[in-house]
Amino acid sequence: MKKISLPTQILVAMLVGLALGVWATLAGGQRWVNHYLMPWGQIFLNLLKLIALPLVLASLVSGVASLRSVHSLSRLGSKTIGLYILTTVLAVSMGLLVSGIVGPGKYLSVEKREALKEKFGGVAGQKAEAAQAQADQSPLQPLVDMVPSNLVQAAGDNTRMLQVIVFAMLLGVALVGVSEEKGMAVRAFFNSFNDVMLRLTEIIMRGAPLGVLGLMAGVVVQIGGDDPAGLADLFRALLMYILCVLTALLLIILVNYSVLLRFFARRFWGRRFFKTLLPAQQLAFTTSSSAATLPATMECVEEGLGIPKKIAGFVLPLGATINMDGTSAYQAVATVFIAQAFGLDLSFSQYLTIILTATLASIGSAAVPGAGMVMLVIVLGSVGLGPEGLALIVAPDRLLDMARTVVNVTGDAVVTAVVAQSEGIHPFEHASNSES
Ligand code: ASP
Repeated sequence: MKKISLPTQILVAMLVGLALGVWATLAGGQRWVNHYLMPWGQIFLNLLKLIALPLVLASLVSGVASLRSVHSLSRLGSKTIGLYILTTVLAVSMGLLVSGIVGPGKYLSVEKREALKEKFGGVAGQKAEAAQAQADQSPLQPLVDMVPSNLVQAAGDNTRMLQVIVFAMLLGVALVGVSEEKGMAVRAFFNSFNDVMLRLTEIIMRGAPLGVLGLMAGVVVQIGGDDPAGLADLFRALLMYILCVLTALLLIILVNYSVLLRFFARRFWGRRFFKTLLPAQQLAFTTSSSAATLPATMECVEEGLGIPKKIAGFVLPLGATINMDGTSAYQAVATVFIAQAFGLDLSFSQYLTIILTATLASIGSAAVPGAGMVMLVIVLGSVGLGPEGLALIVAPDRLLDMARTVVNVTGDAVVTAVVAQSEGIHPFEHASNSES
């Protein structure tokens, strides 16, 4: 019998969880859902949170350390990293713009938001007060807070993941700085640790159907509460959230990338460019993994766009690890949505914090399914929201993961084209399957 693919399994689980949640709310089976279904969702969430820290360490250290060859290619390296950071910051801003304008969390009724705030927002409230109290402190305080003074303490608390990211980056930089021989053991350890962590993520994702079923049913029951009419509220808000993420992703491709190609590459190949990338985009959509898509992306870029291996072979693998425009935009929209749903009004400085943390969190996200949601915990924590918020958005995550991975892969190819153009290599000029 043909094996049902994971995305299909998850989709079916979502629908079953949804149906069970609606049934429980209407027929008074909330207790049953809370006692027998929700725990599976919680176990899945715990596992996701459990692997967040080792995933960050492994993927960042091995990613930064792989820049070793950049020594001779330092110009290429700085251009590439600069462009990757630029496209990510622009993508987060697009996510914030769309979610700020639409306000998906506000589609929940005031009562629902109050109830959610009471249920989940305790931490948010306390942190918001603390943030207020800190208003008099130096504007550089967030920078100070990013730097850990004790690694064990930083690693012992998921909300301090940013400190672990800083440590991982420093470790990666130091690894680049030592000789091949001296760094060999540590580099080999992190490369192998990274592979094992990717495998572990894959294994945990196998439990996603059951986890999603439990979470979906649980979330429907929790939000529906004793008031089934509240369900309509939740669905409307979730739908607006999904639309916001998809709109932001579409605008990144249509606006950000088009402007970037025209501005930096001084050319825009429009449909032809995106048509060339289509096979890679399709694979990204079905696998939800930029790492799994990498071979296809390289083929499209090298053969379709005619960009030589010496550029594509360096820019694309690095991009698959650190450049996740779709993921960062999604994290921005999700954070705004959860904050609004929990009744937290984000200040201007909190928006800036989201830009910084979503950029870093997307850099730290592994290129595998579901990684972006794991790293969302960091962005939520940075504005005082607890990881409980994930319960609100976990159900449609796989669908959004598929869409954001398409943008992640497209962004890598766009930056490769811009870098190639700046090195005097014109995309399409030497393409082996050039149309014209
Ligand atoms: N699935 C994404 C990727 O591989 C990462 C994520 O956002 O979960 O690019």
